[in-house]
Amino acid sequence: MKKFEVAVIGGGPGGYTAGIRLQQYGINAVVFEKARLGGVCLNWGCIPTKALVKIADLYQEVKDREQSGVFISDTKVDFQATMNYKDEVVEKLVSGIEYLYKRREIPLIEEEVIEIKSESDGYIIITSESEYKCDYIILATGSKPKEIGNLKFDGQQVLSSRDILSLSELPESLAVIGGGVIGCEFASIYQQLGVKVSIIEFLPNLVSMEDNEISKRLQIMMKKRKIKIYTKTNVNEIEKQDDKVILHLSTGKTMEAEKVLMSIGREPVCEIKFNGFELIKDRGFVTVDPELRTNNRRIFAIGDLTGKLMLAHTASKQAMLVAEVLNRELRGEGEGAFSINYSDIPRCTFTSPCIGSVGLTEYQAKEKYGEIETGKFMFSANGKAIASGNTEGFVKVIIEKKTGLIRGMHIIGPEAVEMIAQGSIMINLSADINKLKSLVFAHPTLSEAIGEALEDSENLAIHKM
Ligand code: FAD
Repeated sequence: MKKFEVAVIGGGPGGYTAGIRLQQYGINAVVFEKARLGGVCLNWGCIPTKALVKIADLYQEVKDREQSGVFISDTKVDFQATMNYKDEVVEKLVSGIEYLYKRREIPLIEEEVIEIKSESDGYIIITSESEYKCDYIILATGSKPKEIGNLKFDGQQVLSSRDILSLSELPESLAVIGGGVIGCEFASIYQQLGVKVSIIEFLPNLVSMEDNEISKRLQIMMKKRKIKIYTKTNVNEIEKQDDKVILHLSTGKTMEAEKVLMSIGREPVCEIKFNGFELIKDRGFVTVDPELRTNNRRIFAIGDLTGKLMLAHTASKQAMLVAEVLNRELRGEGEGAFSINYSDIPRCTFTSPCIGSVGLTEYQAKEKYGEIETGKFMFSANGKAIASGNTEGFVKVIIEKKTGLIRGMHIIGPEAVEMIAQGSIMINLSADINKLKSLVFAHPTLSEAIGEALEDSENLAIHKM
């Protein structure tokens, strides 16, 4: 039986990163993946959606260009070619990770793990094909789209976020159940490609984990783009007919659409039989301590399976932390692992306009710190945004009054998802408003809006009345 020091189960951004970092530390680790390296993120999540976002934004921009004097006639989207482009992007990235594994000679076993048996001197990993022995385990089996009650996917008319990535034709209309990040991203993509889109959300706001002003602004901008939004509304029943789906809403009304995307959340996946031990879970998510250890010292869990801010970069950072912990434990090397502060992880929503946020919302900061200052600057007064013809949105900063520390940054508008890294650095390096006074933002850039928002927290923004 082959023996490894560490078995990583799942090759998504959590698992594949763990495999590489452990190899960099000289730890004898193996990765098990039942589908393809890259997991949901590279194959059915972040990357294919962002390829579609690029095309949808490009198409929108070309259509909006006429006032700048650029005329492009006969603009149309060839949906099949768009989907082919998306598949090529995925293939390029996934094969890139596979190449890294080959070149680094990291053992990759492309089999499903079905059972883990605990023994006095380690664990036996049982796959569909064979058995392996290991001392430590990192569980990184991820998550899948959720169904509730009578709301179920059929892959034809009622689609999951994975099904919608394999459509061969653009539907005439799309109803999106769930106005969270994934639902809003698809709503935005399909609306820009010319589909009639509606969103049904049970909470009062779309992307409800965002700062209130940001989610309200997204809602206004989506409505402007003719996306119909029904908040505080539930879907009670989905009635399927040959060529359409009828949604029965909690308001007593009905709504028709050719296709339905159901994106009401994600649930953990861990269909492995545990023999001789149990894992403590909370609503299905594996409970971990700050070092990502489960209740079994030698079993770690990372990524979506832990239910902490379910994002690819959370999973990969957790993987790096576990690798550091193991490097210290197995080799006695390293200074000790860093810690992860989950509220300081940036969150990006790739809608049009896009959102980038980090740290606390205004409400959370008030709850936690009492007195706060906020600063806000609109892109409509930013030179680069005006020159680029894209002035939707704003930057908002949240500052703790007592210490002057930046506690949150929230951006909606052009390049928000790129700009938010500046907020991450400020918050992670504990920058306070006084230290930031010497910071110079290049002109003309969108980032100047961050500088003006910081200045606005003291009513000193130059380009604001
Ligand atoms: P996963 O990526 O789910 O990978 C788990 C892997 O484990 C899978 O490959 C699976 O095949 C394998 N596996 C499971 N069980 C077994 C077993 N028993 N044996 C062997 N292998 C097994 N996040 C972002 O940060 N930015 C985005 O823009 C973004 N966009 C998204 C868009 C969509 C449509 C979706 C659905 C998600 C998006 N996410 C995004 C979230 C991101 O994809 C996840 O947070 C991330 O993939 C989680 O990584 P993971 O390693 O925990 O698990």
